[in-house]
Amino acid sequence: MSEIFNDTGDFSARVSNVLNNTKDYDVDLQFYLTDTCNLGCNGCYMKSKPMLNRNIIPASDINFYLDEFANVPGFYNTVVFTGGEIFSDSVIALERNSHNVLDRGWHLQLKTNGAWVMQPELRTSVIRMLDRLDPGRGLLATEEDMKRFLSRIPKPVLKMLGRDRVVKLLFKFMPSASLLDLAVSVDDKLHPAESADWFANIVNLISRDGYLRKNLNLKSFTVNDSKKFFEDRVLRHPELKIKKLESYPETGCLKYNVNGMPVESFFGDFVDVDNVPQFKKISEFVLPSVEGDTAGRLVYCFHPDKTVGLDSCYLESVGRVPYLDAAGKRKPFAQINQEIGQKLITDYKRVKTK
Ligand code: SF4
Repeated sequence: MSEIFNDTGDFSARVSNVLNNTKDYDVDLQFYLTDTCNLGCNGCYMKSKPMLNRNIIPASDINFYLDEFANVPGFYNTVVFTGGEIFSDSVIALERNSHNVLDRGWHLQLKTNGAWVMQPELRTSVIRMLDRLDPGRGLLATEEDMKRFLSRIPKPVLKMLGRDRVVKLLFKFMPSASLLDLAVSVDDKLHPAESADWFANIVNLISRDGYLRKNLNLKSFTVNDSKKFFEDRVLRHPELKIKKLESYPETGCLKYNVNGMPVESFFGDFVDVDNVPQFKKISEFVLPSVEGDTAGRLVYCFHPDKTVGLDSCYLESVGRVPYLDAAGKRKPFAQINQEIGQKLITDYKRVKTK
């Protein structure tokens, strides 16, 4: 959603219009829990490394902003925990934060590089933690939940299949209607080639766990340049028995069945941070909407250096503002939103007048 603005006034008006009307957008929430990672890949957006100074977003900050976003018009009840590597910090702390999201009946996505599967002790801790989460609570429990779910299905699909068939398909492919995603990065461009084996091992592990195979949505994320690598190293993996494949090119998604468990793999463009012009970074803060029926998607990203900004701006510090005030008090959403708007406009003017 790239937009070219004729003057800085156009841009200011656009920013104000978007941020003052969050109800017209899908509002998502992402926490970059830590900037530490066990890998340290070359093109890492976060420039994460092992043994970095280990900034971590405290649970109390997460809790405060979960409460705050619950009241933000347009909030989509979706939270992502990412990093760095989320499992390089305390698994117990991550479990507490995960309960805090799931117990609200919200959707939680845990993003990982999957390397933990090769470390026996950590693997046991991660699986035990996932086993203790209750990812089904709330979803479709009430008529209101059902309406919310159906509102996310593209209208032409609903019309074509009808409500009953859509719900039936949901339970066929997501038997538990789980609110929990485990999303694993798999590619040989940004990550090590072993990521394919780590993912295959995770698929195997989860599909053998009676509880998790029903209560976890397993996903992978791969850059388009590594599509062939994914086909060769995952889809033809000798230990995976893949029965059925369905491709959805419009969303870059591939759905398949491994040992009776549904798995989804997503493909998208690699963003070369160093080659994205500054101007484009600022103007692309609205992403396409989830289902195409709102004006777009705003992803508020909280960072371990105690700043918050909108997605795409996370690549650099453009538009990012501290979420604590000078006295160390957490700012409410309205104040953060206003400051992000101001910062975006100031940064834009600075680039335009260079
Ligand atoms: S695994 Fe992800 S967070 Fe870690 S260094 Fe690689 S790209 Fe960065």
